[in-house]
Amino acid sequence: MQRIVIIGAGQAGVQAAATLRAEGYDGALTMVGDEIYPPYQRPPLSKAYLSGDLVRERLFLKPDSFYAETRCELRLGVAAWRIDRSSKTVLLSDGASLPYDRLLLATGTRVRKLPLPGAELAGVYYLRGIDDVDSLRPELNAGSRLAVVGAGYIGLEVAAVAAKHGLQVTVLEAANRVMARSASPQMSAFWEREHRSHGVVFRFGASAEGFLGGDRVEALRIGGEIVPTDFALVGVGVVPNCEIAQEAGLTCDNGIAVDEYATTSDPDIFAAGDCTSHPAFGGGRVRLESVQNAIDQAKHAALAMLGKATAYFEVPWFWSDQYDLKLQIAGLARPTDLTVLRGTPENRKFSVFHLRDGVVAAVEAVNAAPDYIIGRKLIAARAIIAPERLADLSVPVKSLA
Ligand code: FAD
Repeated sequence: MQRIVIIGAGQAGVQAAATLRAEGYDGALTMVGDEIYPPYQRPPLSKAYLSGDLVRERLFLKPDSFYAETRCELRLGVAAWRIDRSSKTVLLSDGASLPYDRLLLATGTRVRKLPLPGAELAGVYYLRGIDDVDSLRPELNAGSRLAVVGAGYIGLEVAAVAAKHGLQVTVLEAANRVMARSASPQMSAFWEREHRSHGVVFRFGASAEGFLGGDRVEALRIGGEIVPTDFALVGVGVVPNCEIAQEAGLTCDNGIAVDEYATTSDPDIFAAGDCTSHPAFGGGRVRLESVQNAIDQAKHAALAMLGKATAYFEVPWFWSDQYDLKLQIAGLARPTDLTVLRGTPENRKFSVFHLRDGVVAAVEAVNAAPDYIIGRKLIAARAIIAPERLADLSVPVKSLA
């Protein structure tokens, strides 16, 4: 095999490139990215980079020398437009045509846009890339009013940074609690309290109906009511970039469908990261939006491309930083899980374990790294632990593993 092409120069793309070379792949390697930047980490965008505590140079996942040393040709600012599976070529937006023997799709996701009146007004922001933060940051002036639409991770992380900068923050959420899609009710209650203690105002059951303003946004319309604001941040989820796969006739289902070897319905085309739906640890299929998944699945994809396939069934994990608190999550929680509280939320150090049929299935830990680390091990081992022991702080968490 002589030519590998990677579409998408992000977390998964660069990991696959690194693994391919580390595993001895010696052929041509090209990575195509439609952003102008070499691969960078996104988590700091809504945290330290937005707050100004991290300089842009620190975002990049590899030094420039990496691409020369690994002979990875980077084609940036160029989109892959079409895959021709019969001739095994990828057509690029600059007119070039790249032949491949094996192809990796690592196209990630894009923000879900709100199809509302006024959504295109200046002062209405979304957050996915470096440029989004660079245009948002100058709005972080003490006393300004920020309306955040969506109380998911990104909305809450931006709310935390803005509140710390002295802005008046209102978070609008259609559900009746924060992080409703991913966190337990106990966690939601804790984070809501935490944000309120920093002056953040919440409006639940509130769906934005439109943005009002002349040259730029001045207010949001919600349930017939007008909520004035100086700017708005919309964080209502993402959409997987799978059109290029769909148009090539690959199976897609809430993302590019791959098996446990990161292989698509075409044995020469692989996919990794946010853009995939894949067999989940613990059963079923899942599409994950996390650094862990991008890295681990890309490693498995690279191995599979080299004929060394090993099944990808890692315990998913994720984190979020808000104020001085770190939330760490392992496993995939379900609303039907039995939840067990360990520690005291009032002390700002606690965790919620999720049991499914007695088996530890997920853990959410706030400033409780040992609970998270041991929790991950328990999940991987499909351990059965009595709820009373999990809840009992006199039982050292390490002794549970
Ligand atoms: P990406 O990093 O999105 O890379 C995909 C790249 O492919 C993009 O540059 C895209 O423009 C490009 N592309 C798409 N289509 C084409 C095409 N046709 N041609 C060429 N290029 C194309 N995860 C965590 O685990 N913890 C966190 O705290 C966390 N915080 C986050 C905060 C923010 C603000 C954001 C946006 C994400 C956060 N994430 C977090 C998620 C994490 O960043 C993603 O899961 C990860 O970046 C996924 O990597 P990826 O390579 O699949 O996709």
